[in-house]
Amino acid sequence: MSVSPPPVGRLLTERALAHDFPFFDHGHDAFRALVRARLAEHVLPHAEAWERQGRIAAEGWKALGAAGLLEVGHSGDDFLHSAVLLEELGATGYAGIRASVGVHAYMALSYVLLFGTPQQREAWVPAAHRGESVTALAISERNSGSDLRDLRTRARPSDGADGFVLDGRKSYVANGTRAGLLVVLARTRHPDGATAGTGGGRGLANASMLLVDADSPGVTRRPQPMAGWRAADIAEIDFDQVEVPETGLLGRRHRALLQLMRALDFERLVAGLLAVGGVRYTLELLDTHVCTRHVKGVPLGAHQAVRHRLAELYGEFDMVHRYAHHAAWLHAQGRLDTRTASVLKLRSTELAVTAAQVCAQYHGALGQQEGADAARVHRDATAGTIAAGASELLRDMIFEGN
Ligand SMILES: Cc1cc2nc3c(=O)[nH]c(=O)nc-3n(C[C@H](O)[C@H](O)[C@H](O)COP(=O)(O)OP(=O)(O)OC[C@H]3O[C@@H](n4cnc5c(N)ncnc54)[C@H](O)[C@@H]3O)c2cc1C
Repeated sequence: MSVSPPPVGRLLTERALAHDFPFFDHGHDAFRALVRARLAEHVLPHAEAWERQGRIAAEGWKALGAAGLLEVGHSGDDFLHSAVLLEELGATGYAGIRASVGVHAYMALSYVLLFGTPQQREAWVPAAHRGESVTALAISERNSGSDLRDLRTRARPSDGADGFVLDGRKSYVANGTRAGLLVVLARTRHPDGATAGTGGGRGLANASMLLVDADSPGVTRRPQPMAGWRAADIAEIDFDQVEVPETGLLGRRHRALLQLMRALDFERLVAGLLAVGGVRYTLELLDTHVCTRHVKGVPLGAHQAVRHRLAELYGEFDMVHRYAHHAAWLHAQGRLDTRTASVLKLRSTELAVTAAQVCAQYHGALGQQEGADAARVHRDATAGTIAAGASELLRDMIFEGN
């Protein structure tokens, strides 16, 4: 029986490049080509070493900064260039690297850009853009992740001086050991209205965001290695009577809840765009493999069961990809809503898990081998459905948004 060659091996790359998406033009295609060239020069040759070291090297950050990849706009039409950059970062296939850069240049820095004073921005943003100072976002704690109401980190007023004394422990902080700036969520008032001391209390109406210099006395950091995202420099951070000057208060006191509500939609948009790039990488890997690996004398992709599975993934990818561009465009118009950001983050990260499972499965033993791309994609995928809002939390938000 002769089996015709499979129609797989279609260049997903070419499809992704096409500027026939309504929100992109030839200028964005040219920018995409530039970003790819710079990532190929400054990231890919070092990616395996950064995975082993657990973080992007200091020279790597500076190279990314010098290449202009850490300062693409967060808002307006400029954000469409960021959408291209974030997708391409995801398409490097290294979720730890994409998370590290995404947290630094977008998620954490957005708090400074959105809520910082001109002095705070001047103090931190130029160095962050140059890659000389890395930024981290320290919100989660061991017992306070999806539900932040049990937040334990506290900032009480300094005795006899303006400013705060910060005590507590943050967990799972990306860029945690390397960051120069920590954007920290802390309780600044007891729920009964008294100033935060050592007592308990729930609710976020009493919390503030603080900019903390990571070199301050009393800050201790330990690597917290994860199963995936190995280059993301995940760490646990202790704050032991850390003096934070009044100038470290971000925006208004006790207003963290409002700030989080605004910044988290952006965070989910960024996470979604990164994940879409990750799915693209996974499908390209899968596509190449099923075209080249032969089983029963024909390429794996000639088997109908395989072709149909891939066709489903391609279709899902096309939909999520277009939805991602729609969400980026909404944000560029200043109209991104919680539901759109949540749908994008939910669907892109869950598709990444499905694609990674299929990719590992069709790679056979190779997909289980340490050092194999398929194995890395597989171990990286799950974290995407947890970090920046677990899938169940997003489903709640989508439902409640109706
Ligand atoms: C790789 C990685 C990087 C991270 N980076 C950072 C960082 O840079 N900064 C930072 O502050 N935090 C970071 N986090 C922490 C992340 O934000 C939290 O893990 C996330 O908010 C979930 O909190 P949790 O882990 O405490 O899980 P929990 O809140 O304990 O939830 C556990 C699980 O329960 C389920 N669940 C949650 N809520 C609901 C619900 N309402 N209904 C039904 N089921 C539910 C979900 O499946 C969830 O995964 C990172 C996490 C990971 C894995």
